[in-house]
Amino acid sequence: MKHDIEKVYFTEEMIQNRVKELGAQLSADYKGKNPLLVGVLKGSFIFLADLARQMDIHCEIEFITVSSYGAGTETSGKVTMTKALGSVVENRHVIIVEDILDTGLTLEFLRNYLLDLKPASLKICTMLDKPSRRRVPIKADYVGYECVDAFYVGYGLDYAGNYRNLPYIGSLKPEIYS
Ligand code: 5GP
Repeated sequence: MKHDIEKVYFTEEMIQNRVKELGAQLSADYKGKNPLLVGVLKGSFIFLADLARQMDIHCEIEFITVSSYGAGTETSGKVTMTKALGSVVENRHVIIVEDILDTGLTLEFLRNYLLDLKPASLKICTMLDKPSRRRVPIKADYVGYECVDAFYVGYGLDYAGNYRNLPYIGSLKPEIYS
């Protein structure tokens, strides 16, 4: 699998250090608030698992599934929900946990969906942020790393279903796409 990687952008050590900092920040900001972490499947599952273990406050965990990419590397532009939330959101402090913020279409859709459920507060935490690609004005409240425009795999991010289990984040060699 590692032979398919062209460049490593974020090493395992960089990721773990940053996730530790985010966990400490969230623990301070949400002390006594029992936040509901909502992971966006499938990409956020590793980030959410690491982040939650770096938080030393009570928190609950839920998952939601949306889809906009299919098997390619470009968003279809149309976001659909394939698994809705199982928990009550009303009056809860909700934190959406996402792998990467790209065009913003997914998070705009999710933000509107969750705001309709009347949370006490709603914030966004993303591991990666690609600000240059934004199509809608959406900003994350907690960001692991800002990144340049590339197609990343690893640490939950996939290409056609693979590479999610790499412990670092990198880009693929061009021949993998052809
Ligand atoms: P957006 O709706 O902001 O364009 O995209 C968000 C979703 O697109 C992410 O949750 C992720 O699933 C996918 N995505 C965006 N950029 C990348 C990327 O560089 N690599 C991978 N694997 N997925 C991406």
